[in-house]
Amino acid sequence: MIKSVSRLEKYAACAYAHFLTYGLKLAKREKYEINMADMGTIYHKCLELFSAEMLRQNYNYRTITDVERNSLVDKCVTEITENYENMILKSSKRNEYLIRKIKSVCRKTVWAMCEHVKRGDFTPQEFEFAFKEGRIDRVDTYEKDGKLYLKIIDYKSGSKKFDLSDVFNGLQLQLIYYMGETLKIKEVLEQGKEVIPAGTFYFNIKSPYIECSEEIQDEKLQELLLKEYKMTGLVNDMIEPAVAMDHILEEEKAESVIVPLKTKDLGSAVSSSGMNSTNFRRMIDRVERMMDEFTEEILEGRIEKNPYRKGMNTPCEYCSYRSVCNFDEREFGNQYKKTVKISKPEDVLKELEQEGKHELD
Ligand code: SF4
Repeated sequence: MIKSVSRLEKYAACAYAHFLTYGLKLAKREKYEINMADMGTIYHKCLELFSAEMLRQNYNYRTITDVERNSLVDKCVTEITENYENMILKSSKRNEYLIRKIKSVCRKTVWAMCEHVKRGDFTPQEFEFAFKEGRIDRVDTYEKDGKLYLKIIDYKSGSKKFDLSDVFNGLQLQLIYYMGETLKIKEVLEQGKEVIPAGTFYFNIKSPYIECSEEIQDEKLQELLLKEYKMTGLVNDMIEPAVAMDHILEEEKAESVIVPLKTKDLGSAVSSSGMNSTNFRRMIDRVERMMDEFTEEILEGRIEKNPYRKGMNTPCEYCSYRSVCNFDEREFGNQYKKTVKISKPEDVLKELEQEGKHELD
């Protein structure tokens, strides 16, 4: 199996774009400038350095003060930006403005990160957790009664959101595949403990803007801000890990501002992207099977122009190969790929349970 998830996601989006990138290796001419991809890399490096410094300086995510946290963030941003690509960020007034922007985004993002930790029992355990073919930004763990719960966090600059339909169409394999790989590693390392997937999430690196018509208290403002950082992803809706992710879920009719979970009654959590541990694992198997299928198709030499269409969205909109591809639906052989739409989580569960029955047959 090709284990580069981003490569397989690219193939799922359009076989021809995949061929141009990985077969012909066409790439844009590099320019001496800071682009969106650079900004994403810089944010990742700043957060990585921040986590390393937290450990080195013996700070705790739950007790670090605002002053300590902000000064540590500023120090990390300075160190990363000063050494990035021959000091390119010092090369113009525009880039100096970018450094100020990066500091402000990182300060808010790290504040939200610490709030997430404070509101639950999970502890950030591994950063840039490397396995054979990839790297996970963060793995948080929580242990109780011989059970080890895992929470995977992938930092994304921008506003990427988890979408179950995208998983079933092969466009978002990464989060679930990463959870599968971490489970395998932890099951070997933590023998004797039951290792349970609690959730696998995107966490957006950003600086949200809150519009308020009237003066509001700081506490209310913080809550609104935190809502903007709510993670999206596949989550275990069993009550034990749910409460460990956000203590508010101990109450009835509560909604988490951290993870996509809420409660109706005491002791039961629900989510539009939630499932129990068994189905969570079935979902991981499903993703691995899709990765196998895509690998086989790539090895068979599939290179047709088959971009997906999801509502009004297609990958052609932002594709760098438009000028060499000339995809036109009116021409013979050029067709958009149909996508599956999952509107209710029950649809996924039915399908996964059906697959589970076949496994037992
Ligand atoms: S423009 Fe569309 S069809 Fe052509 S390579 Fe890009 S995604 Fe594929």
